Amino acid sequence: MKSKTGPGWKDRFVLGVKKWLGMNVILCDSCKWNWRGACRNPARPNATWCPEYEKRG
Ligand code: SF4
Repeated sequence: MKSKTGPGWKDRFVLGVKKWLGMNVILCDSCKWNWRGACRNPARPNATWCPEYEKRG
């Protein structure tokens, strides 16, 4: 089950592996809420974990 209050150990682990691999870990770049007014996460535009992320396209 995915936590809604913050990144769980699994999220942080996956993020760490992705960073280590040199992958792009910023979610906002490909998120359809990435514009002023649509996004309620203060971490935008550099969120590495987000419960509201949805892929654009
Ligand atoms: S919803 Fe999350 S991933 Fe999407 S733009 Fe906002 S902070 Fe970034």
